[in-house]
Amino acid sequence: MELKTTPAASASAAASSPKLSGKVERFTESVIREMTRLAIQYGAVNLSQGFPDFPAPAEIKNAAKVAIDADINQYAITWGAKKLRDQIAANFQRTQGVFVDPECEITVCCGSTEAMLSAMMAIINPGDEAVVFEPFYENYGPDAILSGATPRFVKLHPPEWTFDPNELAAAFGPATKAIILNTPNNPTGKVFDRAELEAIRDLCLRWNTFAISDEIYEHMLYDGARHLSLATIDGMRDRTITINALSKTYSVTGWRVGWAIAAPEVTAAIRKVHDFVTVGAAAPLQEAGAVALQMPASYYETLAREYLVRRDRLLGILGSAGFRCFKPRGAYYIMTDISAFGFPDDVAFAQYLVKEIGVAAVPGSSFYRHPADGRTHLRFTFCKKESTFQAAAERLVKLRAQS
Ligand code: GLN
Repeated sequence: MELKTTPAASASAAASSPKLSGKVERFTESVIREMTRLAIQYGAVNLSQGFPDFPAPAEIKNAAKVAIDADINQYAITWGAKKLRDQIAANFQRTQGVFVDPECEITVCCGSTEAMLSAMMAIINPGDEAVVFEPFYENYGPDAILSGATPRFVKLHPPEWTFDPNELAAAFGPATKAIILNTPNNPTGKVFDRAELEAIRDLCLRWNTFAISDEIYEHMLYDGARHLSLATIDGMRDRTITINALSKTYSVTGWRVGWAIAAPEVTAAIRKVHDFVTVGAAAPLQEAGAVALQMPASYYETLAREYLVRRDRLLGILGSAGFRCFKPRGAYYIMTDISAFGFPDDVAFAQYLVKEIGVAAVPGSSFYRHPADGRTHLRFTFCKKESTFQAAAERLVKLRAQS
């Protein structure tokens, strides 16, 4: 064996260390989360990571406090407190008209992040492929690698982020185990319509595959867009694993309470993975989640209305700063085209923005398999309060002046 003689003791120790996981070497840390750290480091206005900077509803915070005071401080049932599962089921019935059995079709996880990975690990075998629309929320790449699936990417084409049905059909085959869908979509703001969901359904049936549908932005809809759960499409109820969470709807991204809804045999597999990975999500926050899911219809109407105002505010700010914006119909992100600024690529521009202008955004390449495909894009989030928009607008004036 070769002994490296470098001056740094730590370097020689690293050289002789056991080899790390080959899977882990195939992906980097999250760029979205990194941008938040850079925003803090440079004192920039953070329009990168999608977390609200305004308070969560008082009722929900109080419910969490009450639960802790009532000593709901030990493990909940590993697949989720009954109260919460009952409300998740009631909510899915109310919003999408789909009946699910809370006893055997729901697994509460540590955020939708864990729900997605547990679901992937529950269904993937070596050699399996997963179809992923691209641009994609960056977690889906590592999720595929960690679970052992080979991703097959299918492009969503701007400006409407439509897919070519032939390209989608070509991505399916005998090795396909699942398609990963995210509607309303991060980062594009696309809301998949019935015809698109039916095209996906046809391929799932033809190739006998699952679909994992991340619907965490279900209540953020604009311009008359309607959210349709993939599970409501004929033939998809028992093939779809629906992922959702408290995080976005109730502005509690740090609580880490999410869930997966799936047919009983699939749920049994997800529960096994979940049990040995995390045991369970925070018990008092699950109690608060049961209260959150009973918020009246007016809560969701107000949420959507307020997000519409925020969307239009950020569209205005970015537009006057010289960005070309793709207007989102759902979720809380704006994809932009940055070609006009003449930077070599999205990463160079994002670095310049965070360090010199004082605004953090996510480089488009984080959402593509090949960085070159995202080099003309930058993603901004608008789950922020007015004073944050005001500060961003003031800083972006500098950009305008320089371009
Ligand atoms: N979904 C959020 C985003 O895209 C981030 C979620 C996370 O960082 N876990 O910004």
